[in-house]
Amino acid sequence: MIPGGPAGDGEAKPKAYRARKRGEPEVLTCSVCEQDTGIATALTFEMKQGRMIRDGQPFGGSKVIYCGFCLARGKLTRLV
Ligand SMILES: [Zn+2]
Repeated sequence: MIPGGPAGDGEAKPKAYRARKRGEPEVLTCSVCEQDTGIATALTFEMKQGRMIRDGQPFGGSKVIYCGFCLARGKLTRLV
């Protein structure tokens, strides 16, 4: 548990990406884009959420992946 990190997510939240069989690789696409534009886009960018800083050095935080096309449309859709 990281202080200042995201609050514990429940399991009930619907995922923004399509979940297939466990362990099976797939292209990470955005279902929000698919709903809005009909195209399941796959442009993503990675960031860190809840980073800590100590002596000017960032550490910790959890990796989050957002959809680039959603951002271009003024939305922030977290995929993972
Ligand atoms: Zn999107």
